[in-house]
Amino acid sequence: MQPTNNYREQAGIIVRKNGEIYLKNLRSGNAGGTRSIDYSTNIGEELLGYFHTHPVDPDYKLRSFFSDDDFWEFHKYARTNQGYLMALECGNKLFIAVVEDVQKYQAFMTIARIMQLKNESYIETVLTPQQPNYYTHGQQASINAAIQFFGSAANCGLGFYETTYPEKTNFIKINP
Ligand SMILES: [Zn+2]
Repeated sequence: MQPTNNYREQAGIIVRKNGEIYLKNLRSGNAGGTRSIDYSTNIGEELLGYFHTHPVDPDYKLRSFFSDDDFWEFHKYARTNQGYLMALECGNKLFIAVVEDVQKYQAFMTIARIMQLKNESYIETVLTPQQPNYYTHGQQASINAAIQFFGSAANCGLGFYETTYPEKTNFIKINP
């Protein structure tokens, strides 16, 4: 879903070529959400990850961290690629999820867990509303719910980082 202010998500991929890292295949979302990511690359370009934005909408509290769909999208390449990442810009925050241990990640992302994410919107509709202060601190509630699902990076192989406005450079690991 998109926020009621008609802002649209923006998305693209992150690639590296000859030591230079840059964004490409930028696309805007449609009324239903993020358009499918265009993963096409040219010869010599290595896919490092993808990024997108969640436009800020005070009426749409759930769009404040990675969604269940985001994890599903991420999984397409994350499941076989050590170091693969997804970035999310959301208001004053920038979040990154990165595959720190691909074998642990593969072991953690069982079919059952994938189906939870894919079919139930598990984090958003099952876990998130149960978090404390859901209605006043939606972003932190969403983070807490995701961390409840994934647990420590030492277990799931997936590290989550956040950094805050204005610099957005001082990343803190939120699931050590
Ligand atoms: Zn998203």
